[in-house]
Amino acid sequence: MTNSSLLPRLKATQGIMFDIDGCLVISDGPSGAGGSVLPGAIESIQQAQDTGRAYCVFTNGTAQRPKEIAHHLRDMGFNIPDELVFTPAVVAAEVMKEKYGDQPILVFAAEGMLEDFRERGVNVVDVPAAIKGAKHGAVAVVIGWDTNFGKDKIQLAAEAIRDGAELYCTSYAPMFASADRLNVGVSGFITSGLMFVTGKKDFEILGKPSQHSMNVVSRVLGTPQENILVIGDDIKLESTMARNAGALAGLVLTGTSSREDAENADPAVQPELIVNSMTELVELFAQADAS
Ligand SMILES: [Mg+2]
Repeated sequence: MTNSSLLPRLKATQGIMFDIDGCLVISDGPSGAGGSVLPGAIESIQQAQDTGRAYCVFTNGTAQRPKEIAHHLRDMGFNIPDELVFTPAVVAAEVMKEKYGDQPILVFAAEGMLEDFRERGVNVVDVPAAIKGAKHGAVAVVIGWDTNFGKDKIQLAAEAIRDGAELYCTSYAPMFASADRLNVGVSGFITSGLMFVTGKKDFEILGKPSQHSMNVVSRVLGTPQENILVIGDDIKLESTMARNAGALAGLVLTGTSSREDAENADPAVQPELIVNSMTELVELFAQADAS
């Protein structure tokens, strides 16, 4: 498929989900920390605003809160409000609230992410109290970026799972890239460990490429999934999520996945639109809207 054959679909696009790392910025730390803006990225967000398209940005990291990420991005020149920045923590909180209402949820995360849960009305288990023996009755265990987990918390979560709590993981990537090394994926590590000790065989992923994430994006943008462009640098995350949901799958070649990766990918999750940079995407939208 050539990009020019996609002009009608671009013209019909009402909402855009932008990935952050490798798509809008390239950074040393997660989501813009100490990084630099990729060519055409700021213009691409501006174009979405100017053409009346709904948009959001979505990173799979949960180490930082959306408001912190938004702050970094604004410092770098992006005109993005806090509420249009999404992480799997936001999706997790929305899914927990929708599925379990006021029932208690045991969350593995840094304090900031716990705050995001509480702000959305999730009944988060008081872990220190529960470790001391307080009854908590957790119906679900959510694993996010938690570098302070220890034996007591693992014990608590394992007992909740054995008592029937469902298991959720924000991001199951084994490792992820930063400027100088591969970082270990803490949430997948804890999730796998809990499955090992409890014998639980199933869990659900909440971040990209899950349908949970696509549902939240679609709801926030107020746009049907088939009219959304999902643009990012990782076929396993953005293209896969878009294709599974019937959204338009865009790959930008400034990050993880190469054109060769796209050609070798499972046809069911191959990107439909491939651009060398966000500058090229801006040009394609301009062509599409003029046609
Ligand atoms: Mg990325």
